[in-house]
Amino acid sequence: MKDSIGLEASSGARAGQDAASPDAAPANRLMRAAVLHDVARMDVRQVARPEPGPRDVLVRVSAVGLCGTDFHIFEGHANYQTDRRGRPIPLRDAPQILGHEIAGTVLEVGREVRDLAPGDAVVLDQGLNCSSAARDPKCEYCVTGDSHQCKAALPTISPCRR
Ligand SMILES: [Zn+2]
Ligand SMILES: [Zn+2]
Repeated sequence: MKDSIGLEASSGARAGQDAASPDAAPANRLMRAAVLHDVARMDVRQVARPEPGPRDVLVRVSAVGLCGTDFHIFEGHANYQTDRRGRPIPLRDAPQILGHEIAGTVLEVGREVRDLAPGDAVVLDQGLNCSSAARDPKCEYCVTGDSHQCKAALPTISPCRR
């Protein structure tokens, strides 16, 4: 995507947090994002910029791939944003920022991050894994370099609430 619909995202993906409500955010903590607010209806909106947690980094997105999953969500054939009972939450109630195949530049790092610094060019892993969660020992998948199969993996797609 070009900058006109670029977004910034936290690689630490605290999915489910209300990071995107623009009302509570100071002006310097806003960002633009392409927000899917209903099936096949996407607008560029001002949303709250995520606050990186201790082990998170905030990344300015320079490029994002369009995954098949994004198309399924856009077309209304899939919705992975679910309530506590596992039922999909309608996009009108919980708009989403799509795009989980991301490359960009680190803007901010959490206080426990030692291996990245602002200005670093990065490609994001779309899932949490043993390394991102500081688990020790790591699961068999993370030990063998297949962290995308991590037993403890969680999706990192952040919802957008308005
Ligand atoms: Zn994907
Ligand atoms: Zn793992």
